[in-house]
Amino acid sequence: MTTGMTERDGARTDDRPDADVIVVGAGPGGSATAYHLARTGLDVLLLEKSTFPREKVCGDGLTPRAVRSLVEMGIDTSAEAGWLRNRGLRIIGGGLRLELPWPELASWPDYGLVRPRADFDEMLARHAVKAGARLREGTTVTGPLRDDRTGRVVGVTARAGVDRAPVDFRAPVVVAADGNSARIALALGIRRREDRPLGVAVRRYYRSPRSGDDFLESHLELWEGPPRQSRLLPGYGWIFGMGDGTSNVGLGMLNTTSAFQNTDYRDLLHRWLAALPPEWGYAEENALGPVRGSALPMAFNRTPHYQDGVLLVGDAGGMVNPFNGEGIAYAMESGRIAAEAIVLALARGSGPARERALERYPEIIRETYGGYYTLGRLFVQLIGNPTVMGLGTRYGLPRPMLMRFVLKIMANLTDPRGGDASDRLINALTRLAPTT
Ligand SMILES: Cc1cc2nc3c(=O)[nH]c(=O)nc-3n(C[C@H](O)[C@H](O)[C@H](O)COP(=O)(O)OP(=O)(O)OC[C@H]3O[C@@H](n4cnc5c(N)ncnc54)[C@H](O)[C@@H]3O)c2cc1C
Repeated sequence: MTTGMTERDGARTDDRPDADVIVVGAGPGGSATAYHLARTGLDVLLLEKSTFPREKVCGDGLTPRAVRSLVEMGIDTSAEAGWLRNRGLRIIGGGLRLELPWPELASWPDYGLVRPRADFDEMLARHAVKAGARLREGTTVTGPLRDDRTGRVVGVTARAGVDRAPVDFRAPVVVAADGNSARIALALGIRRREDRPLGVAVRRYYRSPRSGDDFLESHLELWEGPPRQSRLLPGYGWIFGMGDGTSNVGLGMLNTTSAFQNTDYRDLLHRWLAALPPEWGYAEENALGPVRGSALPMAFNRTPHYQDGVLLVGDAGGMVNPFNGEGIAYAMESGRIAAEAIVLALARGSGPARERALERYPEIIRETYGGYYTLGRLFVQLIGNPTVMGLGTRYGLPRPMLMRFVLKIMANLTDPRGGDASDRLINALTRLAPTT
C-alpha cells in the first residue's frame, strides 16, 4: 500500500503521481476511458480541473447511441436512478409537427435519456472511481511532460490544491479528454482543422410546464431576421424536458455561412423563444441562470488522434457528429476504443511494438466514423445553402417515411447486419464515403 491512500465509495484512491495511464479531463470521454481501463486492472489517474458537481454547457440530451455506451458500462438508466427517458424526436418546421420514435434496432436501445450534465458527469466520474480509477479533482493540467531524449510524452504538468502548487504526473500513455479547449493537443502542435465544420451552441434552463416531455424536440426554422422574410440559418433550436420542472432550451448553428460570424446567439435565442407559445413558459421571469454557450468541434476537426504517446478522445479530437451536434456518445465511444488500444499496447514492452498498437487507435477511429463524418460534412455544406434548407423543411417533413430514414442517418443508428433497406443504404453510403 502506498502512503496517502484513502477509501471512498469502496474504491481505491491515493496520491501517487505515477500511473499506467493518465487521463486528462473527467467529462464523458475521460470518465469512460478511465472506466474501461480500470476494469482491466490498470492503474489509471483521472485528472480534472474542476470540482464536482460542476456545470457543463450542454443540451443534456442523450440519443440511443449514448444510452448504449452507458448500458455497456453497467450504469442503471432507470427512472429510479434519476433519468428521464424519451421515446424519440419531435421535429417542428414548415408549419408541421412530426413525432419520430427512435428506430427499433437489434444493435441499439429504443430509448434516449435526459439528465443535467452537472449530475451526469459526476455520476460517470464516480462510476470510473468505483471501477478502480483514481480521480483527482481541482487539478489543472498545464501541459505535457516530455522525455528529454526521445521527445515522447511521459506524463503531464499540473497545478493542484488550494495553493495551486505545480505537480508532475508520470505515465507511459496519456489520454487527452480535455474537451474543446484541447490544451494538451495544442501544446503538441495539433491545431484545429479549418477544412472541418465547427458549430456554436447556446442554452438556458427555464421553469416550464413542458418539463415532463418524453420526446426530444427540435425546431428547424431559425431565421436570420424576421420570420419567412429573411434567410433560414443552418442549425436548429431544441427543447428538452428535464423532468424536474425545467426545460433545457437552446440552439446550435454551423459555420457554413457568413451569418456564423455575425450572429448574436443570445439575441437569436431570445427572438426564437419570443415566437413560441407563451404558455410554454420560456420567458425571462422563468429563466434559471444566464444564457451560456460553447463551441461544437465536429467531424474530426483536430487530427492526428495519436501522437507522441498521447491519444485524443471526444471533443479534444473534434468528434461531435456534424449531422446533429451530438457529442457525448462519441466521447464515450472513442474513450472505449482508446482504452482497448492502450490495454493491448501496455501488454507489450515499451518500444516499437507498443507504438504500433497505439497507432491502431486513430486507424480504428477513422474506420468507425470516417465515412459517416464525410457524409456529415457534405450535409453541412448543403444546409449552409438557405434554399436547400428551405426545400428540405418544406418537402422533407411531410414525408414520414423519408423522415424516418433521415432520423436514422442523423442519429447514426442502423443495424450493421440484417437491418432493413434503409439501414443497408446508409451503411453502404458510409462504407463508400472516403474516411479522411
Ligand atoms: C450548448 C451545447 C449543447 C450541447 N448539447 C448536447 C446534447 O444535448 N447531447 C450531446 O450528446 N452533446 C451535446 N453537446 C456536445 C457535448 O457537450 C460534448 O460533445 C461533450 O461534452 C464532449 O465530452 P468530452 O468528455 O470530450 O469533453 P467535455 O465534456 O468538455 O469534458 C472535458 C473535461 O476536461 C476538463 N478539463 C479541461 N481542461 C482541463 C485541464 N487543462 N486540466 C484538467 N481538466 C481539464 C473539463 O473541466 C471537463 O470536465 C452540446 C454542446 C454545447 C456547447
